[in-house]
Amino acid sequence: MKTRITELLGIQHPIVQGGMQWVGLAELASAVSNAGGLGVVTALTQPTPEDLLKEIERCQSMTDKPFGVNLTILPTIKPVPYDEYAQAIVDSGVKIVETAGRNPEPYLPMFKEAGIKVIHKCTSLRHSLKAEKIGCDAVSVDGFECAGHPGEDDVTNMILLPLAAKRLKIPFLASGGLGDGRGLAAALAMGADGINMGTRFMVTKEAPIHDNVKRRMIEATELDTQLIYRSFRNTARVFKNSVAEKVAEIESRPGETKFEDIQSLVQGVRGRELFDGGDLDKGIWSAGMIVGLIDDNPSCKELVERIVAQAEDILSNRLGGMLSS
Ligand code: NAD
Repeated sequence: MKTRITELLGIQHPIVQGGMQWVGLAELASAVSNAGGLGVVTALTQPTPEDLLKEIERCQSMTDKPFGVNLTILPTIKPVPYDEYAQAIVDSGVKIVETAGRNPEPYLPMFKEAGIKVIHKCTSLRHSLKAEKIGCDAVSVDGFECAGHPGEDDVTNMILLPLAAKRLKIPFLASGGLGDGRGLAAALAMGADGINMGTRFMVTKEAPIHDNVKRRMIEATELDTQLIYRSFRNTARVFKNSVAEKVAEIESRPGETKFEDIQSLVQGVRGRELFDGGDLDKGIWSAGMIVGLIDDNPSCKELVERIVAQAEDILSNRLGGMLSS
């Protein structure tokens, strides 16, 4: 498939791996890139900018295909030296960045000067238009189905994607609720130039997380996610486990919830321990509604090839067949 995204990023298939805290390591990013998609290393998973530089070098040694780096700017428990992470990305020689969270405008001049293509993740049409206006090369349009932070508007991709197609000039990825060839074909039909998948790539052989997590996600239904942090306007969709339900219960109590009331439950480091040790109630972990459609643990290559083949079959046979008399 050739789309504006495959052309812009220099990749074979219009499939991009989303940035994922604790999951976006070199093993996964290189596997996705070697499969013909775009793998993405997650910057904040590395404790320091120096470690990020080393992780990017590790990824460069594992693939000669393009890959990107995700830089997420959202509230954190400890302050993050974003400027230094951005500089490490420039110094690494990587040519694609996925920004998420706050407006990436302050970093655009340094990224542009280094010849880096910037894809900004947006949960609304107005943010997508703003990203286009400030000079981003593409956007990733994140519907309400997505894992992690869906924003506060709760608009699903059935509406967001055609809206983006009507209004945006730059290429865009559909993000949220994508995990199979039906989703890819539908996203292309709605005007997207490719798809961004996070949760689906968590359940692959190369994803560096415990098998218990993968097994639980395979068993899960579309009802197994939970929205938290609504009261802080920092909404996140996470897997529905006992910790997520506890956080939601605290937030639903009458009166104002303070972040300190839930901080010990949601610390990212507990999520990391969960991924490493496989204790499914150790902390919270991001997951999108697509968990309801995941039923195996393939390699990234098997997954990417299967998605592309299924989408091609739908586009040329199922849909094409509807047009032939
Ligand atoms: P962390 O341990 O610092 O914080 C844990 C969670 O609490 C994060 O989701 C963070 O956004 C939230 N948080 C922290 N301080 C807050 C405050 N004052 N008010 C409201 N919410 C607050 O973070 P981490 O888990 O190590 O993650 C690092 C970064 O990656 C954060 O910016 C986080 O938002 C982001 N992240 C994004 C996704 C995604 O799917 N997009 C998933 C996980 C983490």
